[in-house]
Amino acid sequence: MSAVAHSLAAPGALAHVPTSARAVLSVDLAALRANWARLNSASGRAECAGVVKADAYGLGLAPIVEALGKAGCTTFFVATVKEGRAAREVDAAATIYVLDGLLPGAEAEYAGFDLRPVLSSLPEARDWARFSRDRGRALPAAIHIDTGMNRLGMPEAEIDELVRSPKLLAAFETTLVMSHLACAEVPDHPLNANQIRLFRELRMLYHGVPASLANSAGIFIGDTAHFDLARPGAALYGINPTPGRDNPMRNVLTLSGRILQVRKVPQGESVGYGATWNAKRASRVAIAALGYADGLLRAGSSLDRKAGGSAIVARKRCPIVGYISMDLACIDVTDLPDNAVRRGRSAIFIGENLLIDEVAASAGTIAYEVLVRLGSRCHLAYRGG
Ligand SMILES: *Cc1c(COP(=O)(O)O)cnc(C)c1O
Repeated sequence: MSAVAHSLAAPGALAHVPTSARAVLSVDLAALRANWARLNSASGRAECAGVVKADAYGLGLAPIVEALGKAGCTTFFVATVKEGRAAREVDAAATIYVLDGLLPGAEAEYAGFDLRPVLSSLPEARDWARFSRDRGRALPAAIHIDTGMNRLGMPEAEIDELVRSPKLLAAFETTLVMSHLACAEVPDHPLNANQIRLFRELRMLYHGVPASLANSAGIFIGDTAHFDLARPGAALYGINPTPGRDNPMRNVLTLSGRILQVRKVPQGESVGYGATWNAKRASRVAIAALGYADGLLRAGSSLDRKAGGSAIVARKRCPIVGYISMDLACIDVTDLPDNAVRRGRSAIFIGENLLIDEVAASAGTIAYEVLVRLGSRCHLAYRGG
């Protein structure tokens, strides 16, 4: 059992977690920094940025930006201007790109916080050029090239038009050309090779401008995907960037909920809303203070006809039973010794050997979604800072 799991199992041991905290999301900043260093070295000669959109995938943007900065990260990607402002407050010197691109009329907000839009269409490029001219300065921005994902980014034809418009190009400063892989998690997917080939070709139109393609999984495709700057998000936070193979990243978070009571459930009686789980034997069920309002996905509930997720209680895995409700999850602890589970102890829902990719699989989704939903009501506790 890790040190943190120990302290979570006996609340109060972590000085900064109030005794009344019902659900705790503990973030290990030392593991986060180690993950960044690991990704930085896996990126070869490329620089390694940090993607901190969606409140750093739910783990809290400010402390994550600060910790990544300490590890050596100087370039950050956010999705929104609001997130960019929050990152700027923490790191005055960092380079911050906004993946949304440029929303019409919002130019001054980007410039006011020294944020660089990732320009994804010709109209965005024209707006940024006009704003730069008005300000009398070629303001920095990235150019997003679409190489086959058909989400954001300029397709080849728009890039051609842009590079044939010297006045437009010269009005702002292109500090990065980037594209995004659609299938990086499947390294031999044919779309990867196509996207890499097209990106290689189109970035040539921007002599001397750094290029960026790889997200977390893209880094593990190897050299051909590295270019000058890698953009990992998920792997920083412990999500496996190499699905189907061992996870090279360290776990960063522990999610726990306090046990409010332990009750006997007679054989044949049901647990929870809808009476969807029925005790096949005389059972003991621990009621933990963690529900879908805390980010525990309801899709991980277990019903009579379908197994769901688990929690770790007293170092043993126990099944979640019945529907996960807004505030509570019920755990079948019948197989634990009588005195092993007590009111006030914690059940671990992510942590130890129960990791986020597995939790996501038992809720039928991806680890990204599990992550970004955490943290809204949990007590966030940082350690290893
Ligand atoms: C979210 C995002 C990333 C980070 O992706 P991960 O898979 O989390 O590493 C990188 N680039 C773009 C454009 C993104 O939207």
